Amino acid sequence: MRKIIFATGNEGKMREIRSILSDVQAEILSMKEAGITADIVEDGRTFEENAMIKAKRIAEEVSKEDVIVLADDSGLEVDYLNKEPGVYSARYLGEDTSYEVKNQNILERLRGVPKQRRTARFVCAIAAVFANGETCVTRGTIEGYIGFQPAGKNGFGYDPIFYVDEYNCSTAELSEDVKNQLSHRGKALRAMKEKLD
Ligand code: IMP
Repeated sequence: MRKIIFATGNEGKMREIRSILSDVQAEILSMKEAGITADIVEDGRTFEENAMIKAKRIAEEVSKEDVIVLADDSGLEVDYLNKEPGVYSARYLGEDTSYEVKNQNILERLRGVPKQRRTARFVCAIAAVFANGETCVTRGTIEGYIGFQPAGKNGFGYDPIFYVDEYNCSTAELSEDVKNQLSHRGKALRAMKEKLD
């Protein structure tokens, strides 16, 4: 059976990936399950470039037969901040800075800015490297806005300050199932699934 190795150590992502790709005929493994460790320098300028850097780097580590390597890169773009933090989302104000501090900082930078100018989106790019060396990338986004205060305890990262109009709440207030239905990663994964099919 063919194998899909997803270049992440994040269990939450693996759950989402396994659920979305459940009817793809393949064994789905995390990097850890595949016994792969690699130092990866994500120095791309776009989400797509970073996802491809990761997928290619992991593909170097696997025996190629019947293996597809997938990798993702994601982040938050705030229009009023010229799309910051963008590809630096995880590193914004330093990798070890808590999201409470990162989120407060973004709220502070948007102080006094009206709702219509607080538009933002989560973006996710997923790159695939196939056994024959071919590659492809998909992208998914979820549009929303930066709220006026943090809310909610679900999710992670910037979820407490990212609001969606459709539900009139932050993505940290949505259940995991609902968020997966709407999310940038879910959309990019489903687009990748079509390519794998
Ligand atoms: P990575 O793709 O795992 O490197 O994630 C990049 C960063 O983007 C994360 O550390 C979060 O800060 C942010 N991010 C990506 N997706 C989400 C999301 O769904 N909710 C909240 N923050 C996110």
